Amino acid sequence: MTALLEVRDLAKHYAGKSGTTIRALDGVGFTLGRDEVLGVVGESGCGKSTLGRTLLRLVEPTQGSVLFEGEDITNLSRRDMNRRRRDMQIVFQDPFGSLNPRHKIGTIVGEPLVIHGEADVAARVAEMLDIVGLPPDAAGRFPHEFSGGQRQRIAIARALALRPKLLVADEPVSALDVSIQSQIINLIADLRRRFGLSMIFISHDLSVIRHVSDRIAVMYFGRIVEIGSAADIFDRPVHPYTRALLSAIPRPGLGPKPQRILLEGELPDPAHPPPGCAFQGRCRQAMARCATEAPGLQIRRAEGDLRDTACHLFEAA
Ligand code: ADP
Repeated sequence: MTALLEVRDLAKHYAGKSGTTIRALDGVGFTLGRDEVLGVVGESGCGKSTLGRTLLRLVEPTQGSVLFEGEDITNLSRRDMNRRRRDMQIVFQDPFGSLNPRHKIGTIVGEPLVIHGEADVAARVAEMLDIVGLPPDAAGRFPHEFSGGQRQRIAIARALALRPKLLVADEPVSALDVSIQSQIINLIADLRRRFGLSMIFISHDLSVIRHVSDRIAVMYFGRIVEIGSAADIFDRPVHPYTRALLSAIPRPGLGPKPQRILLEGELPDPAHPPPGCAFQGRCRQAMARCATEAPGLQIRRAEGDLRDTACHLFEAA
């Protein structure tokens, strides 16, 4: 069976100042299975949002392709793409900015149904509100009458109204109080099971990613540096960047904490990428080769295991 999503060498470049090129996304490839949740994690500015948006063509890719159920959507006409969009929806970080303040909740949640010519809109809006845990009278109220967590429930109801196959969740809980975050994460996990949703779940927060992901892609400077099962990434990380990220999070119930590796310095300037590996300037294990040769993401032999990572410490298998 074909993967739900197959992403090949996807890139998004922006024009920077004085003729520079900003490689927000710089050649990313992966597959997403049906009913699978891929967590995408990495520091702010590493290209996570650009990836999420480029996948859905909310931002047009500079290069590469996205196959959805085997169909290359990167060259679809606007009309054909709009038809496809019912299968692929997105929830954004900001539950305040993403809902039209002048529309009632019933209109907001029902809008995708209306656009795609669906019947029984009011009944389906009521069903969606119930599914996301909002009272029936929410339909007649305005966004400002709701809390941040409730607004994110509204955004989720809208995104799932058409029963999409793929949901891109872009930092869906980052703007919420910590006490509310787990409620929304649990809701997303429930809905994922209920609807058999596949998801790209984007977060800078590894402890959030751990709760929802089957597989995890770790991004650095516009690329994936390591991708694997959630167990491999959390219990046996191999890329020095993944190890540094992981050593900084609490691990309740997961045994002794690995020695904390401080992640010093910042992401390189995207308009002036360093030669070689983009992580070398912050990597304690950098070797001479890392300064000149960028390591590709490929299956490598890492501590007796086969792992998909972009690091010269591990030879290609
Ligand atoms: P993340 O979601 O991981 O924080 P983004 O995808 O938002 O990262 O950004 C990746 C890089 O691309 C950053 O350096 C950012 O400044 C740059 N970038 C994003 N959008 C634009 C844009 N519209 N124009 C120029 N640069 C951009």
